[in-house]
Amino acid sequence: MTSGAEKAPDEGGRRLRQLASLEVSVLKRATPKKLSDLQVLGIFSVLDLLTTYPRRYLDRTRKLEVSSAEVGDEATFLATVRTANTKSLGGKRSVVELTVNDGSGSLAVVFFNQPWRVKQLVPGTLALFFGKVGEFRGMRQVTNPVVDVVAHDGEEVTSDRLLRFVPVYPSSAKVRLTSYDLGNLIGEALRRAGDFADPLPGELRSALALLDRTSAMVQIHQPASEHEAEVARRRLAFDELLRLQLALGLRRAVLERSARGFTQSPIVLDQQMSDPTALVSQLLSTLSFPLTGAQLRVLGEISRDLEQPLPMHRLLQGDVGSGKTVVALLALLAVADGDRQGALMVPTEVLAEQHAQSLRLLVSGLVHRDGRPFGLELLTGRTRAAERRRILEGLASGTVDVVIGTHALLTGDVLFRELGLAVIDEQHRFGVEQRAALKDRGGEARDPDLLVMTATPIPRTAAMVLFGDLDVSVIDELPPGRTPITTIWARSELEEQQAWAAVRSAVARGEQAYVVCPLVDGSDRVAASAATEVVQNLQQMQLAGLSLGLVHGQMKVDERRQTMEDFRRREVDVLVATTVIEVGIDVPNATVMVILDAAHFGIAQLHQLRGRVGRGALASTCFLLGEAKTTEAVTRLEAMESTTDGFALAEVDLQLRGEGTILGARQKGTSDLRLASLATDGDLLVLARDVAEQLLSDHPFLRGLDVMSEELRLLLDEDEAEFLFKS
Ligand code: ADP
Ligand code: MG
Repeated sequence: MTSGAEKAPDEGGRRLRQLASLEVSVLKRATPKKLSDLQVLGIFSVLDLLTTYPRRYLDRTRKLEVSSAEVGDEATFLATVRTANTKSLGGKRSVVELTVNDGSGSLAVVFFNQPWRVKQLVPGTLALFFGKVGEFRGMRQVTNPVVDVVAHDGEEVTSDRLLRFVPVYPSSAKVRLTSYDLGNLIGEALRRAGDFADPLPGELRSALALLDRTSAMVQIHQPASEHEAEVARRRLAFDELLRLQLALGLRRAVLERSARGFTQSPIVLDQQMSDPTALVSQLLSTLSFPLTGAQLRVLGEISRDLEQPLPMHRLLQGDVGSGKTVVALLALLAVADGDRQGALMVPTEVLAEQHAQSLRLLVSGLVHRDGRPFGLELLTGRTRAAERRRILEGLASGTVDVVIGTHALLTGDVLFRELGLAVIDEQHRFGVEQRAALKDRGGEARDPDLLVMTATPIPRTAAMVLFGDLDVSVIDELPPGRTPITTIWARSELEEQQAWAAVRSAVARGEQAYVVCPLVDGSDRVAASAATEVVQNLQQMQLAGLSLGLVHGQMKVDERRQTMEDFRRREVDVLVATTVIEVGIDVPNATVMVILDAAHFGIAQLHQLRGRVGRGALASTCFLLGEAKTTEAVTRLEAMESTTDGFALAEVDLQLRGEGTILGARQKGTSDLRLASLATDGDLLVLARDVAEQLLSDHPFLRGLDVMSEELRLLLDEDEAEFLFKS
């Protein structure tokens, strides 16, 4: 095996691009049948083949012999199929019964409703069976094990191959190609490829204690031990994360190069009121509370961005109720003090109206330096034509300082005299196109500063991948005076009765409660009828005598708004709702929440729902009802009981569900993440980010790092590569 330490970086060696342009058919072992199987698996080039990594390794020294397997053992057996029979159980149901033998003894293996197994596992086939040993009619038996075919009947299996630590490749029921075949093809490809070019400079590699590329590629496929495999995986996973971080860094550099922003005045949080005419000072003097440390810190970060000529591009994360709105408002006021305008955009019209309502209260009485009242307007699809005309005129002339609306504000006919700051609430995706749209809003085609806010906590590692091209500020402290919410998972009938008793006594104290209906699969209509049923039952049984209101997604907006208003005015004691209450309700007098069938909700959703209580000084309780049928659901509900910290919960969610669901489609480059895991490779990710930063500062636009920039072009999404490297 080659040792990387003495090899010069970048020099010679196979490049990934060369391997990508070589078809697998160049391999001698790639017979026509195998070629067509490889195609089914999506493997066309030698690079595709080499980046088909083992799913796991079988340590053959720890393999269990059939003769010593006991009922209850969970183990892998390497055994040859002796007999295979199918029985129909009627209808589509069938059972395939095998006898397998490994030289030490025989074992029964059965598969239910997998009729194709009888073709896959014909007598003579050597395969790995992974499963739990059970018992049937006094005989040891393994039911529905995981199977990896090692060799078909008559195929030679060299003994050295079987003596080693064996890679197990992903298999598919659709092809005959075995893990063993893949290992052979990969072995040939590795031999013929020789050394690989290494995109990482040698000094950096040794400083980071990372393996060289050649050894890593060989050892991930043919490790001598678990340790060797892990060392190799670490290097290759690092490469994946580094490419991603470099792409994000480049994206930033490209945007910054083409950007023309404003140099704005800072947010002066001056208690001495040296400039009492400033809108910021006026608001501070009317606020009934001091800002929290976290709010002050974040305002400092935003203020520094405003002063920079580069446009701000910042994400503000903070749990529900952490006080993001005041922060955004102060930033908007500072911009208005500098005679530029601001826009606040939210996902829905209802939310826009709520924001407008609460912000109007805060800014009423504020006077702009020009001597006119501070201009705050709401512009939505419901705004009447004459009103709309007036607002558009005000935006064009500059007498409207801040406009609130939906994200559609960016795409309509809305023109500003000079848009200095755009605040976007609850919008994670904010791509290049939207930025371009924003730019056109300003009279001079400059880029306004941009603040994106989210109340969905995202684990740090995921944020680094999702928002690596944004600066991130976090409000990690709730305003004082909030009483933490107690969460109780009612596991028994008795505890459920206690939940309803808690609702009744809250109402008796003059407080209010929410009941959240189960998530129903299917249409809104099904959900609505289920919710109606819940109300009827509660009204007759547990909550008889209380005044119940119902909101669901099938109601007309006006009707829904009326019910919510009734709840706010305390005419309704208990608001029964589908998940439509997730966003935007703020009733501090509501202190109890009962979530029915809680195990069906995800962590993020439960957290958002629970955030509707505990909004005042009163102690609040959230009851989670219903059974958890899976261990995952148990973990979710126990996590909800143990913490109210949104970031801690997001971390649990990431561990449970993996990154796929969190990343979604936002970062296309993540399709390159084959070995790296955001849930477990946090340290590598931080390392990759630091290294990316260093490399980009030493080599702007990766100049001089040819192998690296070639790999980025090769492995990034085409549009992304086009965008990053067009110059
Ligand atoms: P978010 O937008 O982050 O969910 P809000 O800005 O709506 O939170 O704030 C929630 C509530 O807390 C509002 O009623 C707000 O007036 C209040 N609030 C904000 N900052 C503070 C603070 N520093 N001290 C006390 N109350 C605050
Ligand atoms: Mg908010």
